Amino acid sequence: MKTDKRVKRISAARLPTVWGSFVVYCYKSMSDGLEHVAMVKGDIEDGKDVLVRVHSECLTGDIFKSARCDCGNQLELAMQKIEEAGRGVVVYLRGHEGRGIGLGYKLRAYNLQDDGLDTVQANVELGLPVDSRGYSVGAQILKDLGVRTMKLMTNNPAKCVGLKGFGIEITNRVPVLTPITKDNKRYLETKGAKMGHVYGAETEDEYSS
Ligand SMILES: [Zn+2]
Repeated sequence: MKTDKRVKRISAARLPTVWGSFVVYCYKSMSDGLEHVAMVKGDIEDGKDVLVRVHSECLTGDIFKSARCDCGNQLELAMQKIEEAGRGVVVYLRGHEGRGIGLGYKLRAYNLQDDGLDTVQANVELGLPVDSRGYSVGAQILKDLGVRTMKLMTNNPAKCVGLKGFGIEITNRVPVLTPITKDNKRYLETKGAKMGHVYGAETEDEYSS
């Protein structure tokens, strides 16, 4: 695992939200200049068992509440759960649009999905990777915030693997289960069948190293 410092904390500010009060941090990725976000709730100074969501940017889902995916609902649920827990972190990773293919290609993939392809087949048809997202930036941000062990809110075991190796341990995976609708049903089924996503109960110690 690379140990060079590739993210830099730029600034932080108090940020009241509809869920409650958070502190927002801006981190800059030195390799590509992207500005990432960490929303921090409460006192996480001990760094232990912090409730964490590492969220991949999805403009259509997060901002416009697209019903094609579950991103917007997952983000909202994560913010809500952290508020309820009284402390936690949401890391919001930019440049992860469409599992890393970018917004333009993501919309083209949507057209292919409307023609009958699933999300995996659509990326392949466009000659693009199925999932090119990396999580090392997320791990470095969490490390900088002092997180040492975390309860990770995700349905994606690959994310658990991707976040390990920076001295941060995942003690628990917390599922982020959001409503299944007619518009996102196939998308969720594909994630389950082809990408190893799990839509089940909380698992303990499965991903601890
Ligand atoms: Zn999405």
